[in-house]
Amino acid sequence: MEGRKKVTGRFAPSPTGPMHFGSLVAAVGSYCLARQVRGDWLLRVEDIDTPRVVPGAADTILRELEAFGFEWDGDVLYQSSRFERYEQALAELRQKGLLFDCGCSRKEILASAPHPGEEGPRYPGTCRDGLPPGRHPRAQRIRVPDELFCFTDMVFGANEQHLADAVGDFVLKRADGIFAYQLAVVVDDIDSGINQVVRGADLLSSTARQIYLHACFGQAPPDYIHLPIALGPDEEKLSKRHGNFGLAGEDRGASLLRALTFLGQNVPVELDGAPVSVILDWAVSCFDVKRISRQAACPDRT
Ligand code: GLU
Repeated sequence: MEGRKKVTGRFAPSPTGPMHFGSLVAAVGSYCLARQVRGDWLLRVEDIDTPRVVPGAADTILRELEAFGFEWDGDVLYQSSRFERYEQALAELRQKGLLFDCGCSRKEILASAPHPGEEGPRYPGTCRDGLPPGRHPRAQRIRVPDELFCFTDMVFGANEQHLADAVGDFVLKRADGIFAYQLAVVVDDIDSGINQVVRGADLLSSTARQIYLHACFGQAPPDYIHLPIALGPDEEKLSKRHGNFGLAGEDRGASLLRALTFLGQNVPVELDGAPVSVILDWAVSCFDVKRISRQAACPDRT
């Protein structure tokens, strides 16, 4: 590791409910990969989308993380305390000629793209060169270049996305005044010096947008490690709807072991029934990123 920069990783839950198995997997993966190289591990509460935030959920998540034995560095960063900073970041992009006001409604954009792709309807560029007469600014969008964005994910390998074709100019501040996840995540990762992002593979398709934003702010992107998606018994991505499926009730040690097994780790049987601190210590020293599969799976079948 000589000459290499210290790793700074993070876990960034959205407080839309209590921890579920998918968030535990992201916490374990990001923690082990930062700590095994003596890196920092920061905690950020992504409470920016205020209508989706569940009161009390952030505190519940913090208490749960503590009960699992996770220790984070420094203070918890709350996105809700950073609106001024996001506004300043938007001003910087506007000054660089990268931001524009958009007067289109969702309905109009949908109507222009009758066959939306994985990322929803591609923005057709209506307001890119100025608001058409009679239009009022609603959202703020960033101009996307006609370029292919390529990156190598440590689990998912080589990835590429032609942003202009797949997404088009994307929203950084929504018509309802809420800052977009893509903006907040990049500004926070830059300001916190994050150089290793470990998270669920559902965010793989956001990564090209985030790499582009890092470049717009003159920054190199972090390393990306996406983890397989946890499925519910119905084969759908685990969500609030599945309750605490995959978490072994109050037995946190069993949940940790299950999350590690889900991540392909060769968990020794002697760890059955061990305290969480012993399990986490083992995980930090033995975690092997090469054992992680790309395959989405149901935790009770791994
Ligand atoms: N807040 C996001 C989530 O809970 C994670 C964002 C990220 O890791 O970039 O899914």
